[in-house]
Amino acid sequence: MARLELDDVRKVFTDDDGSDIVAVDDVTVDIEDGDFLVLVGPSGCGKSTTLRMVAGLETVTDGDIRLGGRSIVGQKPQDRDIAMVFQSYALYPHMTTRENMSFGLEESTDMADAEIDERVENAADLLDIPELLDRKPSELSGGQQQRVALGRAIVREPEVFLMDEPLSNLDAKLRSQMRTELQRIQEDLGTTTVYVTHDQTEAMTMGDRIAILDGGELQQVGTPLECYHRPANHFVAGFIGEPAMNFFDATVEGDRLVTDRFEYPLTADMREAVEGADGVTLGVRPEDIEVTADGPASDDDEFDTVVDVVEPMGNENAVYLGFEADSRDTFVATVGGMRRIDAGESVVARFPSDAVHLFDAASGDALH
Ligand code: ATP
Repeated sequence: MARLELDDVRKVFTDDDGSDIVAVDDVTVDIEDGDFLVLVGPSGCGKSTTLRMVAGLETVTDGDIRLGGRSIVGQKPQDRDIAMVFQSYALYPHMTTRENMSFGLEESTDMADAEIDERVENAADLLDIPELLDRKPSELSGGQQQRVALGRAIVREPEVFLMDEPLSNLDAKLRSQMRTELQRIQEDLGTTTVYVTHDQTEAMTMGDRIAILDGGELQQVGTPLECYHRPANHFVAGFIGEPAMNFFDATVEGDRLVTDRFEYPLTADMREAVEGADGVTLGVRPEDIEVTADGPASDDDEFDTVVDVVEPMGNENAVYLGFEADSRDTFVATVGGMRRIDAGESVVARFPSDAVHLFDAASGDALH
């Protein structure tokens, strides 16, 4: 069983002037056998360092990493049954696809040639590249080279795959095609996989579960939909979703939230949730805002706004709305692309109460 457990894993680097950099801050995450976990977060949040510690390419300052229940901290990388795929393909230019894929097995195992050949051919079938086996890297496209790099990991039949932004050198179309294909391959093989990306769309579409990191700290682990619908805090709420969630600083005054732009009525549930909070941040996703032309606003959860800018996004428009005509202080709503909407138009924006998120302004933790 290849269950991978990270238990309070910490990594502290020391920089040139002797001060500590906490790259990974007590991260605990449990990846079940066969699961696909995506580790996602902004640049510098500690994703690669986490992956490198699992691979054994970086020492662990504190905490434990277990594979199949046994600690692997202290084991040499080559003794861990783990294969890593990087952003750069790092293929040997003078070797054919077949040689690039078999080289590692020939060097580090005493496996019989026939078995190596069989593994290479099976991996080539899985990756749909059997016709490329006798070509050299210079005769392959970027996408094909990335498949060979994956093949090199697959032939090892490891217990765990670690992938560090493996698709980021590919163009957008190929990247989305490879995402689907990687998922299929991972499902076919059933190999526990940790996949690192800074791209929240990639994380949302690929992971069984996603683990969101910021500043070395784990913010939330959950299915993509859990993280989208019930973000644990302000950071996750703003990181997941495109365009990003709108946030408004507010104070609680009786049964209302008061911002410098508008007041919002609190439901009984919300009142309970915000009790004791000094300041509250109200969050609402662009896709949850209802935009209608028939003003003026007549309900407490509706606001009169003016369209500042309309950005087409294919089948939808991102519509930037201000509370006053000349305001640059706007928030964004998404509106179906079939509907005509123009800058300067007056519209009513409604924030439905079941789509409103509330966060503690000081800690950022979700309250509701
Ligand atoms: P990116 O998406 O940009 O690759 P990341 O999330 O993978 O970023 P890491 O590469 O893990 O982030 O880096 C985490 C933090 O640790 C950063 O602040 C980085 O500067 C620091 N760091 C990484 N490696 C070292 C090192 N060898 N020495 C000192 N600091 C390091």
